[in-house]
Amino acid sequence: MNIKHILVPTDFSPFSDLALQIASSLQEKFNARVTVLHVLTPLEAETLTAQPGNPWENVVLQIQNTMIKEVEKNAPSLPRESVNLEVVVGDPAEEIARFAEENGADLIVMGTHGRTGLAGILLGSVTVGVIRKTCIPVMVVKCPEN
Ligand code: ATP
Ligand code: MN
Repeated sequence: MNIKHILVPTDFSPFSDLALQIASSLQEKFNARVTVLHVLTPLEAETLTAQPGNPWENVVLQIQNTMIKEVEKNAPSLPRESVNLEVVVGDPAEEIARFAEENGADLIVMGTHGRTGLAGILLGSVTVGVIRKTCIPVMVVKCPEN
């Protein structure tokens, strides 16, 4: 398996932080490019753009700014030119799977859980949805890399 494009969907939870750390070491080994993707639900997108003076371009810039900070914190050795930051609107699992297929991702690295992180549930609904919707290998992470 050749890993040239790694997709890291983030909800900015500690699990996404971990996914970025692991994607970063894979990136180095395979000389891959990394796309960090955040999916806003239509309701979130509507709420954010409803604020006066906050057009969609601003919302994207703000989220990309948060993404850059997350990347710098968790993947400081990741070359900036190997990273793409993407923001889309829709159902998170559906959009993650679609993005991966349409952009030729070879591997998706994501957390077992996310912001909700309900204890006792094996996998969050976004992770389950992505695994269901795509044939692209999904690496699910929950513990820090040693
Ligand atoms: P649930 O959302 O089902 O209540 P949860 O929040 O604990 O449970 P998930 O939402 O499935 O778990 O999150 C698992 C992983 O999915 C996260 O670590 C992250 O990698 C990814 N993820 C979740 N939501 C998004 C999103 N909106 N955009 C991009 N990636 C996401
Ligand atoms: Mn979630």
